Amino acid sequence: LPRQPAASPLLALDIGGTLIKLVYTASCEGGGGGGGDGAELRFAKFERRRLQECFDFIRAKGLLGCNGTRSTNENVLLKATGGGAYKFADDFREKVGVCLDKLDEMDSVVSGANFLLQNIPGAAFTHMNGQRNPVDVSPNNLFPYLLVNIGSGVSILKVTGNRKFERVTGTHIGGGTMFGLAKLLTGCKSYDEFLQLSQKGDNFVLDLIVKDICGELVCQKQGLSTSTLASSFGKVITSKKRLTDYKPEDLASTLLSAFTYNIAQIAFLVASLLGLRRVFFGGSYIRGHKSTMENISFAIDFWSQSQMQAVFLRHEGYLGALGALMSYGD
Ligand code: ADP
Repeated sequence: LPRQPAASPLLALDIGGTLIKLVYTASCEGGGGGGGDGAELRFAKFERRRLQECFDFIRAKGLLGCNGTRSTNENVLLKATGGGAYKFADDFREKVGVCLDKLDEMDSVVSGANFLLQNIPGAAFTHMNGQRNPVDVSPNNLFPYLLVNIGSGVSILKVTGNRKFERVTGTHIGGGTMFGLAKLLTGCKSYDEFLQLSQKGDNFVLDLIVKDICGELVCQKQGLSTSTLASSFGKVITSKKRLTDYKPEDLASTLLSAFTYNIAQIAFLVASLLGLRRVFFGGSYIRGHKSTMENISFAIDFWSQSQMQAVFLRHEGYLGALGALMSYGD
């Protein structure tokens, strides 16, 4: 981290379609009394519809008291990224008395990822077959890589260096789509509840697998795995069951696997087209959730015949906010 005097916390925000992410510094309490010679990063998030709670948090933590750079009119100037930095700029000015210094979202996401990868040991890891392993990302073997940021939508970027990147493509069928459907279909109230439900469920109650179509014998003959998904939700078509006859757990499990495999497959296709072998995944969709990471890893490994690697990042939901924080040093 850029060294900051102990009494001067920094705060940056990423106001996305679903969540507001905050990254801020707190001085390390080494020996007390003003001489802290480092700062620690702290993370917080709020649902976007709970903007007021975010304001209260910023005030309660004293993150505006003495910090940050100040604009010429002595208003506090906060680095902020994400579409909401434009939409809610007036709210921040009127309700908290701060001006938002708006930064490009993709720039920030890439800066945040590069910062993590180049400065935080152990920030990158694989998660496959139940094992989490650190990935060596020394500067000379880091670039180029594909960055797949799974938020409300999905952005896919080719990163070739510090501040060197291209937004290659994306898809609107992302975390917002999945969680939106999850709320409608399972009645879950929070993302955590959705993830917990999915862990207790069985996706094969709703998913059609190759064995259901071909029969076990044909699968064996043709060397197909009997559990390969043929059609997510495909069993529903031929069933007499109604929505309420399905367990929310099973619905959640099917939703999570359908979206996760689909996004991973798109990531694989883009990486193949660009000839990239390492794919980093970020965004709050992942939420450090084991089976999400396992499924992404499985899909990338399966489609690439083990030629590509899915890599995950600690603090994956905060890439944009981290990048915004780093820009105080510019
Ligand atoms: P954005 O910047 O578009 O808000 P994020 O990277 O913050 O994107 O990811 C938002 C997605 O992460 C949601 O669509 C949902 O799939 C998932 N998610 C993780 N945690 C939460 C949460 N607490 N509330 C809502 N969605 C969450």
